[in-house]
Amino acid sequence: MSTDRYDFRRCKLCGELAAHPRYQLKGSFIHVCEACDFHFINNLDVMPDNDPEYEARTLDVTAWNFIASHLKKNRRQLQGRLALVSHHRSLADAECLDIGAGVGLFSHLLQEAGATPYGIEPQLVFRQFAKEKFGVTLHAETIDSPFWQESFAGHFDLVTLWDTLEHLNFPVETLRDAARVLKPGGMLFLDTPSRDSFYYKISEWSYRLSNGANPLFLNSLYSPKPFRHKQIFTVRQLTELFEKLDLEIIALNRSGLFDSSNKIVLAGKKPA
Ligand SMILES: [Zn+2]
Repeated sequence: MSTDRYDFRRCKLCGELAAHPRYQLKGSFIHVCEACDFHFINNLDVMPDNDPEYEARTLDVTAWNFIASHLKKNRRQLQGRLALVSHHRSLADAECLDIGAGVGLFSHLLQEAGATPYGIEPQLVFRQFAKEKFGVTLHAETIDSPFWQESFAGHFDLVTLWDTLEHLNFPVETLRDAARVLKPGGMLFLDTPSRDSFYYKISEWSYRLSNGANPLFLNSLYSPKPFRHKQIFTVRQLTELFEKLDLEIIALNRSGLFDSSNKIVLAGKKPA
């Protein structure tokens, strides 16, 4: 799908021409679909492949220190995700694809657990960090590319998307493409912010009551900056999407209303 001429009246979840701007944020609008109530902003990333200047931005000391300062917290969280995955399938000898691999930490943990990791990360600085810190080689090709769709169709035991779905230009297409590279019986795991959270609901109320003057957290839940949050699913939208993609739900952890992590954790299994 083209990113430069996307018609944001077209809902990125159900495909209907029924989405209209409802909340005005800093540099973007949240579009709301009248047909399925999906919320997404009118912004898409230009992928690095299409941006000749992009590859010039590389890993410097500032970027290294910034990334390194977040590693400890990310490691704690991803170790929890690893425990969840290994509860459902032994990691020894598992072929695993991590979409939105970031700085390669989850790939590194998978490797330590005896799995064979592959990672996709469009941002060059993150791929460079992964290589230097963990010796992990991440791929720049996105999941829709022939590289994955032709050479790895039906290949993977596990596909993971940690904190990734909300960043994607076209989340439905990415999940469909992710399901295609799963083996029969393979499993897909993800986590993503929840629109059912208290923080989201109170922000909507605040926006409405103040006629847009006070959107509370909406400006931190979404951002038109490159590779930031573009859409936020409800639990129901996401579980229905899994069913549509023929992924049987095997795990669902909807964060509590007041849970500060605000995350949905969801896993689905491709029919054997
Ligand atoms: Zn829709």
